[in-house]
Amino acid sequence: MGPTAARRLGKLGLHTIEDLLAHAPRRYESAAPERRIADLLAEEEVAIAGVVKNVTVRRPRRRLAIVKARIHDDSGDIPAIWFNQEWLATKLVPGTPIRLRGRLQRGEFQVRAYDLGDALATADFAPVYPAGEELTPQRLRALIDQVLPFARAVPDPLPAGLCPRLELPIKGDALHAIHQPRSLDEAAAARRRLALEELLVLQVGLARRRREREDDVARALPSPGKLVGALRAVLPFRLTSGQEQAISELDADLERAVPMERLLQGDVGSGKTAVALYALLRAVEAGFRGALMAPTETLAEQHFLTLESFCTQLGVTCGLLTSSAGKRDREQAAGAAVVIGTHALIQAGVDLGQLAVAVVDEQHRFGVEQRKALSAETRPHTLHMTATPIPRTLALTVYGDLSVSEIAELPAGRRPIVTSWVTAERSSEAYRRLRRHLEAGRQAYVVCPLVSESVAIEARAAEQEAERLQRAELRGLRVGCMHGQLRPAERRDLMARFKAGELDVLVATTVIEVGVDVANATIMIVQEADRFGLAQLHQLRGRVGRGAEQSYCLLVSRPKEELTETAVARLEALVETVDGFQLAEVDLELRGAGELLGTRQSGLTDFRYARLVADRPLLELAHAEADALVGYEGPLNDEIDALIGDDSQLA
Ligand code: ADP
Ligand code: MG
Repeated sequence: MGPTAARRLGKLGLHTIEDLLAHAPRRYESAAPERRIADLLAEEEVAIAGVVKNVTVRRPRRRLAIVKARIHDDSGDIPAIWFNQEWLATKLVPGTPIRLRGRLQRGEFQVRAYDLGDALATADFAPVYPAGEELTPQRLRALIDQVLPFARAVPDPLPAGLCPRLELPIKGDALHAIHQPRSLDEAAAARRRLALEELLVLQVGLARRRREREDDVARALPSPGKLVGALRAVLPFRLTSGQEQAISELDADLERAVPMERLLQGDVGSGKTAVALYALLRAVEAGFRGALMAPTETLAEQHFLTLESFCTQLGVTCGLLTSSAGKRDREQAAGAAVVIGTHALIQAGVDLGQLAVAVVDEQHRFGVEQRKALSAETRPHTLHMTATPIPRTLALTVYGDLSVSEIAELPAGRRPIVTSWVTAERSSEAYRRLRRHLEAGRQAYVVCPLVSESVAIEARAAEQEAERLQRAELRGLRVGCMHGQLRPAERRDLMARFKAGELDVLVATTVIEVGVDVANATIMIVQEADRFGLAQLHQLRGRVGRGAEQSYCLLVSRPKEELTETAVARLEALVETVDGFQLAEVDLELRGAGELLGTRQSGLTDFRYARLVADRPLLELAHAEADALVGYEGPLNDEIDALIGDDSQLA
């Protein structure tokens, strides 16, 4: 092809024959029967084949050109009509063989697709490719048709025997069939085969990662001792069986000299914090240190506020490592038995050699450099936590190399939060309800609208909103305002007052998402709820419903008609269910994996053929097959190395 076409293909990311072969159709045309011209019936979509007899062009109006060609086969002839494709007239030279697809209308054949030469556009199940503005689908079809003979020469990187066992075509056949299937079933089987390869590459890579870690060294910790025994006594509740299960799973990991890599999954309110604290204290009682690493300083502070009082009661030093603290404070914090801070600060400030357990919060996996920084002589045992559940499909891809503990149930006696969605005009009603709760001795949260990415602007807006509410809906009530600009000490003080019942209402930004824990707070109003993400709202809502009282969450938004479809879907889902796992699946469907994970890990879910939601059974299959392929040597390895090699995204 010429340089112009090559450049245009390049814009679609297509540079090689292999790229073209891998460019899968978005969909397929349906099948249409071929008819003799004499047998045409009105309204049915069909194909006809014949030769051009003559051609005319008419221009009845500006902007309208009608090309009319008489088409002839041995049963008869018929005029065929194209609109606004004047240039075509020069190609329809009398005597040219042609195949048309379309339908008979008022004695004329309305053309939907045509082929001069090979049947590509008019064929049954003709592929429809994602194309660019500069490249017509027809051109792309012709180019791919041209390279298609090479498809069968592509070697199958999967181990021999796998495809036959799973009743899937080998790669060459699949590549051919995905472009020119004889049936939609054949196309579907071809896609499944190609998707399986993608998923296997990832799963085998993750399984190898798991296997390689077996060579790493961590400190084998002695059996649970006095300190965690004391923790059980200090906790104001008995651990649920789900928590106990997670604890025994991580205890088993900690006894080994191989670093633990475990993901702790559990819905909002399921009590992950207690399990995390347990893990940290296991390090402390063995004479080492534990660190909790959060992605942001605000989140680190929140965790600190929750964990510090338990540590104090147990006589364990607990420090918060912040960038704003002075050098001495920082050194002191870094020397505490339990250190809490951002990933970066902890890696810079803590003697990692003393670190036996790291709790890593929030979807932020270690990058390569961090891993290397940690791999001094021993690596810490690591417990990964996510604030809200992630869908199983994503857990299997992005966290596929981790062991998973799941806290399936909430502590006993919790009543599901009742959620309602009210429009802004009726928000005064929402505040009346809030007042009724306060009169009954309860407390409340009001979440301010999301105004900006900037913590400072957000904080100012929250303060203004708190003042406004204080003069209006919340007049006469004791109102506090919580936002990301407060210092840890101020925040601690505010929380202490709220916990002690000295404040009735906490007006807050999303900083209350994590860690804030007051069982007497039973009602939450979220303003402009349509602007928040689904997981975020679920997490916010989790601040109520923490005690035995029935709790409520009121989502306030503009009228439904003014909202986007996905905003409506989000709010409806929240009203519908309090199950975080179910909401996570909804979120995945609404947003797609890339957005759900943020850019950093989306490379892992950038599939060409696989579809994360729909292909879950295939993913489970790949996951199950992967272990057997850990030692497999073959062409699959190159792909695995490209995806999961040393400087890949999933390092
Ligand atoms: P999350 O999993 O969302 O981080 P938390 O750890 O914040 O949940 O726990 C939610 C609330 O449940 C907290 O108030 C905590 O004190 C309480 N809690 C945790 N475990 C139990 C339990 N076993 N029984 C009763 N309450 C519990
Ligand atoms: Mg939590």
